[in-house]
Amino acid sequence: MIACLDLEGVLIPEIWIKFAEKTGIEGLKLTTRDIPDYDELMQGRLKILREHHLKLQDIQKVIGEMSPLEGAYDFLKWLKSEFQVVILSDTFYQFAGPLMAQLEYPTLFCHKLIVDSSGNINDYQLRIKDGKTKAVAAFQQLNFQVIAAGDSYNDTGMLKQANAGIFFRPPPSIIGEFPQFKVTDNYNDFRSAFLSARANIQKD
Ligand SMILES: [Mg+2]
Repeated sequence: MIACLDLEGVLIPEIWIKFAEKTGIEGLKLTTRDIPDYDELMQGRLKILREHHLKLQDIQKVIGEMSPLEGAYDFLKWLKSEFQVVILSDTFYQFAGPLMAQLEYPTLFCHKLIVDSSGNINDYQLRIKDGKTKAVAAFQQLNFQVIAAGDSYNDTGMLKQANAGIFFRPPPSIIGEFPQFKVTDNYNDFRSAFLSARANIQKD
């Protein structure tokens, strides 16, 4: 059985929100929680970066000061002892590095930024559209059963595709929309949700 985890909002803070707080730019506070269309969200972010002449190194500097969410390290360590864990994220490898080091380098599938030699972020490259859902489906084709967990709209595809889906600290607005997923808001309940999801899957 494989546990597929979202990254931002589940193990680490939202990178763009931290960067928005540091820079004071309101428009950068929007996330997939606010704008479900990822391309629309990203194009908006890149436009703001260009307007403010902000470069990759400015964002990396803020990320360098960030830590995983309190309790995330121990939770992930426990999860890895119970399941094979793959992190499926819509972040970028250029952002995730320092935080992955603090989590002891779990397996991470995410996207990449297209950056020029001076550090301007010109574009981004998705690994594949709807990669989270497709990764879960591919694991299932390899005869794995999957429990997927995330906090936001961009996770609901993989949660639906998985054998069981769990929300961790989702915004209230999406809870009602997806009543089939167990909602958790602390790592103890999150652990219990994984264990009972596994028990249910094994029962079937
Ligand atoms: Mg998230």
